[in-house]
Amino acid sequence: MRRAPRAGGRTLVVALALALGLSLVPPAGPREASAASSCPRGHIALTFDDGPSRHTPSVLDALRRRDVPATFFVVGQRVRSSPSLVRRQHREGHAVANHTYRHERLTSLSDSRIRSTVGATHRAIRDAGAPAVRAVRPPYGATSSRVRRVLRDAGYAHVLWTIDPQDWRGYSSSTIARHVTARLAPGAIILLHDGGSTTPNTVRALPRIIDTAHARGYCFGLIDGRGRVVAPTPPAPPPPPLDDVFDRGTAAACPPGDAAETPFADLGDLPAPTREAIACLVRYRFAEGTSATAYRPREPVRRVDAAVLLTRLLHYDAAHSGLVLPWPSREPFIDLDGLSAERRDAVATLEALGVTTGTGDGTTFSPYRTVTRRELAVMITRVQRLTAGGEAAGADKRYFLDVAPGAPGAAEINDLAARGIVQGAADRTFGPSKEVSRAAAALMLMRHVDEHVASGRLPVREVATAEPSGG
Ligand code: ZN
Repeated sequence: MRRAPRAGGRTLVVALALALGLSLVPPAGPREASAASSCPRGHIALTFDDGPSRHTPSVLDALRRRDVPATFFVVGQRVRSSPSLVRRQHREGHAVANHTYRHERLTSLSDSRIRSTVGATHRAIRDAGAPAVRAVRPPYGATSSRVRRVLRDAGYAHVLWTIDPQDWRGYSSSTIARHVTARLAPGAIILLHDGGSTTPNTVRALPRIIDTAHARGYCFGLIDGRGRVVAPTPPAPPPPPLDDVFDRGTAAACPPGDAAETPFADLGDLPAPTREAIACLVRYRFAEGTSATAYRPREPVRRVDAAVLLTRLLHYDAAHSGLVLPWPSREPFIDLDGLSAERRDAVATLEALGVTTGTGDGTTFSPYRTVTRRELAVMITRVQRLTAGGEAAGADKRYFLDVAPGAPGAAEINDLAARGIVQGAADRTFGPSKEVSRAAAALMLMRHVDEHVASGRLPVREVATAEPSGG
């Protein structure tokens, strides 16, 4: 729930929503428009003791009608009986703090029993599913310097009140409202109760208390873990809805048995689709292991490695389709000395095709720098345009929380996501700036090949017999 200061909170929400290209829920009615738009006299706090009880929902309804937050000092054993009410308090933007487990008079308890009644209540609130504010209001206001010290040493703020209309005595709603509004002052903490049969009168007094306070320039805040009245923090805007990512393996490009055939001893703990993609990559001779028995799936891919992978893929494509590769006649970058002929040729081929434009001012390729997931996505998408043409598939969709629309590489990353070639992590992030591991590169590249094999554009590569698998 949005809380005062309303103007600031709303502006932020609107700005974020616009930045994310979201449509907004229409603004609330005239009530909200007429509400206080600033807080010249600062924040005051409504607090409710002794709940949750069967009267709590009516208090929450009244607060919701005015869009006002409160702090509930709850009794632990009542939290255990009605945890869903505490969850509702938290969900609707209220703070939940501590009023002991059985409403004990703390001045009559030993130090250790003070700690245990407060600790049991703290756990009950958290078990109910709300963050427990580390603030304690002693029942009956019964306190002492010893009680204060024990609470402070246990990490809790000690909170009393500044306005007490004694609503539990059964006074009328107008008496309660008059008592409170006559005493409003900056930083006020108003003591009310949601735990007993007199609560209906309290509920009826709330609109007048709230409207009067707003009219005088106050906003309502919450009690924090240091016992202060603070402005409620506007909730973070909900994450944008994401489009689902199609999970695909490499079933068309490679028979499923391939993974069992690989000579690599270091793939055992990888998921089956990753093992199969690595086996498939080797079957197509786009890459090899780092030795006869190791693949090193977690090592990062360097830019020169990615160039070799993609160029081998392009040569395979050219051998089976109408794709014509340019003859790279010159070395386009100044930092390719010492690379093997195949590596130099791979980099020059990608440059001639526009798949890479180098690094820095464009005169270098930085062959030994690691490739980011974004860079590889961009290169694979450019290869796709060269070989099969077509429009970017997912340009208007959003697949990952950390790939904002319009960000560098976003169109390419979303295109690959739409085709099922990249997938994010379980938390729905892509990690565009992370290094690409050799395993992830195998998955991305071979899902791309799999798409072309599945469409009939490229043939399955047969495994050559007893032949070294390339250099
Ligand atoms: Zn109480």
